Amino acid sequence: MAKNDKTLGINTRLAHSGNDPRDYHGFVNPPVVHASTVLFPNAATLAGRAQKYTYGTRGTPTTDALASAIDDLEGSAGTILVPSGLAAVTVPLLAFAETGRHILIVDSVYHPTRHFADTMLKRLGMEVDYYDPRIGARITALIKPNTSIVFTESPASNTFEIQDISAIANAAHSAGALVMMDNTWATPLYFKPLDHGVDISIHAATKYPGGHSDVLLGTVSANEAHWQRLHDAFITLGCCAGPDDVYQVLRGLRTMGVRLEHHQRSALAIAQWLERQSGVARVLHPALPSHPDHALWKRDFGGSSGIFSVVLAGGGQSHAHAFLDALEIFGLGYSWGGYESLAVPVFLGDRVVAKGPYEGPVIRLQIGLEDIEDLKADILRGLKAAAAI
Ligand SMILES: *Cc1c(COP(=O)(O)O)cnc(C)c1O
Repeated sequence: MAKNDKTLGINTRLAHSGNDPRDYHGFVNPPVVHASTVLFPNAATLAGRAQKYTYGTRGTPTTDALASAIDDLEGSAGTILVPSGLAAVTVPLLAFAETGRHILIVDSVYHPTRHFADTMLKRLGMEVDYYDPRIGARITALIKPNTSIVFTESPASNTFEIQDISAIANAAHSAGALVMMDNTWATPLYFKPLDHGVDISIHAATKYPGGHSDVLLGTVSANEAHWQRLHDAFITLGCCAGPDDVYQVLRGLRTMGVRLEHHQRSALAIAQWLERQSGVARVLHPALPSHPDHALWKRDFGGSSGIFSVVLAGGGQSHAHAFLDALEIFGLGYSWGGYESLAVPVFLGDRVVAKGPYEGPVIRLQIGLEDIEDLKADILRGLKAAAAI
C-alpha cells in the first residue's frame, strides 16, 4: 500500500499511516523506543552526527511513526510531539515570539493559552490583544504594523462560535503575520487548518487521538515555510514527549475515526433533544441549524465532535451546581475526548469581548461512548434538580 495515498479513505489511512511493519520484522506496531543515548559506529560518524538518529530528544522510530501519521492527516511539512496540549500551544508561541511584536488572540481561546500570553508573552515584550471570534475579515482593522502572529481556535472554547479561518488567514498574511490554530475540537478529520491558510496547526492529542483519559500529549504541525523555525525551537527547548505516551496516542489514532463518528452522532442527537427540554434556553453546538454560525460550520467543517454547551433557562451558580451534582453517569472533571461523558460549569469572566449575554448558567458537556438513552436520563436528573431550586 502506498503511504500517504490521499485517495484512500480516512479510516484506511488511520489504520496504516505512520509506520511500515516491514521495517520491524513484520510486527504490526512500531517498537516503543526508550532512549537517551544512541551509539555511533565510529568517531567520524559521531563527530558529524551522520546518522538518522542521534539522541533521544531529537526523535526515535516511535516519535517518527506518530509525527508522520499526523503529517499525513494535516498535510504538513513536519510535526513536533510535546508533553501536553498546553505545551503544543506554548512551544510554537515561544518559537515565533519576538520582543516588540504584537499578537492577536481570539477572545474565546482555551483559558491557559490566555494565561500564557498575559504572563510570559507580555514579560518577553509582546503586545497582546484579544479579538471577537466572529470578527472574520474585519480583523484587518486590529492588525498593526508590528503584528506578527494571529492565534485562532475554532470553534470557541466553551461557547462554540465558529471563526472564518480563511478570511482571518488572508488578512493576516496580507499584513505579513503568521496564523496559528488550536484545532483540538475538530481534529484533522473534520477540519484541516493548513487547507484554510493556517501556518501552524495545534492539537491537544490528550483529547480524541488519545481517547481514553489516560495520556497527555500535544502535536504541532507546520507548513513548509514555518517548519524549520518550529523544529529549531523544539530542539532548543528540549520539550520532547515520552515514548510510552507517544505510543499510546499512535494506538488511539487507529480507532479515532470510528470513535469520533460515535461521539458525533451521540452528541448531535443529545443536543437536538436538549433543545426541546424545559429548563434549557439554548444549546451551543455549531452543527445545530439554530446555531448562529451554522452556515460557516457547514462551509468549512467535515463533521462535529462530542463536546458542546447548554445554557440553562435562567438561574445562577446554585442551579448549575444542582444540575451537576445530580448527574450519576457524567463525571465532573476537566478535559474531554475520552470514552466517558463529562460535565463542567463554564466560566466566562476572563473574556474581554465574547462575554454573551447568556440567559443562564452555561454547562459544557462531553458526550462519551455510553448509550444515548442512559445519558439522556442522566441529563434529565440534572435538569430536574436545577428546576427544583
Ligand atoms: C485540553 C486543551 C488543551 C490542552 O491540552 P492538555 O493536554 O490538557 O494540556 C489545549 N487546547 C484546547 C482547545 C484544549 O481543549
